This record gives sequence, C-alpha cells and structure tokens, in this order.
Amino acid sequence: MRTFAYDRAADASTIASALAEGSTRVLAGGTNLVDLMKLGIETPDRLVDITGLAVADIEWNDGSGGGAPGLRVGALVRNSDLAADPVVRSQFPVLSRAVLSGASGQLRNMATTGGNLFQRTRCPYFMNVDTACNKREPGSGCSALDGDRRNAAVLGASQHCIATHPSDMAVGLAVLDPTVTVVGTDGVREIRFADLHRLPESAPERDSTLRQDEWVTHLDIPPLPPGARSTYRKVRDRASYAFARVSVAAVVVVENGVFTTARIALGGAAHKPWRATVAESELLGAIPSRSGVIAAMEHELAAAHTFPDNDYKLSLLASTVASTVMSLADAAADEAATR
Ligand code: SF4
Repeated sequence: MRTFAYDRAADASTIASALAEGSTRVLAGGTNLVDLMKLGIETPDRLVDITGLAVADIEWNDGSGGGAPGLRVGALVRNSDLAADPVVRSQFPVLSRAVLSGASGQLRNMATTGGNLFQRTRCPYFMNVDTACNKREPGSGCSALDGDRRNAAVLGASQHCIATHPSDMAVGLAVLDPTVTVVGTDGVREIRFADLHRLPESAPERDSTLRQDEWVTHLDIPPLPPGARSTYRKVRDRASYAFARVSVAAVVVVENGVFTTARIALGGAAHKPWRATVAESELLGAIPSRSGVIAAMEHELAAAHTFPDNDYKLSLLASTVASTVMSLADAAADEAATR
C-alpha cells in the first residue's frame, strides 16, 4: 500500500500553496479520486480535504437586489442537491437532467460539482496500469489506437489520445455558458466554461486549463434568454449507471416560427464537452425541422475522424441532436398554439 498525508483545510487561503508544492490533490466527494488511488492511477503524496469549507451553497440572484443575475453554485454542492434544487429544475432543466443521468443515487449523494468537472476519462487503458497510456504516463503510447475504440472520440482527438470526457454534468453546463471561478497562488481568476476543458493535442495528461496550484470555488450560470427551453438526452448501453455512448444538451428559443437561440453540446464525442457551433450557427433563423437539424449536424460532423468500431457515433449523434432539439421546438410550437 502506498502511503500519503491527509490534511483538512482549515481555511481556503492555504489550499493553493499546498497544491503548488507538487503531488497534492484536493479531496472533496472522492468518488473518482479515491477509486483512481486504489487502482494506482493517481498517486498523490498528500490529500487536502476541503469538505469543511463554506463553498457548498446554491444561490439564485434574480437581479432585483443588485448584482449580476444568475445562479451561483458552490464547488462543494453535492450532485444530488444540485439536481434537486428548485431553481435548477425550473430554470435549467438541462442541468438537472444531465446530473441525474450520471452515476448512481449513492454516488450523486457524495460527488460534488467541482469534482464532477474534473473526473477523469474511463478509457479502459487509462484505467489499467499494465497498459500504455499517454494520459496516465506521458510518452508511453496510446493502447486505444490499436485496441478497443468503440467509445473513442470522433471530434478533436489527436494521435496521442482518443479518449472521451466522462461527465454528463459538464455537457449540461456547456450550453449554459457559466463562468468558473478558481483560486491559485496568484489570486482569483475567472475561466469561461468553454475554456475550462481542453483537447488532448500532444499533452493528453492535462484534462483542463486549471494550473497546478488552482482549485475551483464556484460557478456562475447566467439566466437563459426569455422563452428558453432546455433538456439533456443520453444514449448508453444500459438504463442506469453507465457512461454515455453519446449525449446531447440543448437550449433553444423559437420565436415567430424560427430558432432565435440554438445551443447544442455533445457528450461522448470528444476529450471535452463539445459545443456544436457549426450546427448552432446554421440553425439560427431557421424554421425548426428534423431534416434541417440533421443537415446542420452533418456539417458539424464533417470534421470528425472515426474508426470502424466507433463510426456508429456519427449517425447516433445526428439523430440524437435532432430528436432533442425538435422535442424542444415542438413543445414551444404547442405552447404557442394554445396562447
Ligand atoms: Fe490513454 Fe487516451 Fe490512449 Fe485512452 S485514448 S489509452 S486515455 S492516451
């Protein structure tokens, strides 16, 4: 057994300097980190337990009392609490549904918002220390390239890593454009959610743009535009407790019969939650139709690279996006018809 030091953070000011020392990890829910430590994939010398810090609240600001309107979610908010929050359920159903589609009830009771953002890929070779993996051991090679590629990325992969991001919650957040606040030894900085996760390029060991000494305190989610509808749909091998083959988060607004907002994020497609910006641009101003969404997704996926064992994802992504977006557009049309 490998030994490590364990500390409880007394206050937030000491965490960044502890992280800067080197092989230190922040411990919150521990639902991914502890598993990886048991497998010998993560081998920190020190854990800093932050569960006693005051960053576990959900606060809704409607703007009437000043300040930027929106939802602030503390890094230590448990996934179950986030999904069940009345404001999240009413204002951001895409987020509630994304969280509820991940893991199991027991895990969601433990897992935190901050930890969920940084959970690591479940690529089978990353999870097996007896195989080569550039993400786990930089420069060792990528066993997936000639191995099991059924769940490999189809967008944004590199010759160094073809893994997918595992988080449902992160895909749901990707269409909400939050700001992530982090603290490091240089102070506080804000990161656009779109810039938080990264593609593998030549350094797949780095999942995010977080620096070694930084940790997340909270997220700020701005309000959606008036009339917005949102949802999350996940396709997986079994009904629960399985990672996505593909997933789709969507926010749409339909006004006067055309899309005036169209935000789409893809899960199971890339090393990070993938905003389908090509499809989004094409849909803006368009009359909602399944064929139109499929065509927009075909253009989005023109940049895809596939293997024989994962090329099923292209048609699955296109059809899942079409079903998801059209379910929202149809609901908007139904409501408009009853006014
Ligand atoms: Fe490792 Fe990425 Fe290759 Fe999987 S796909 S074996 S995570 S380098």
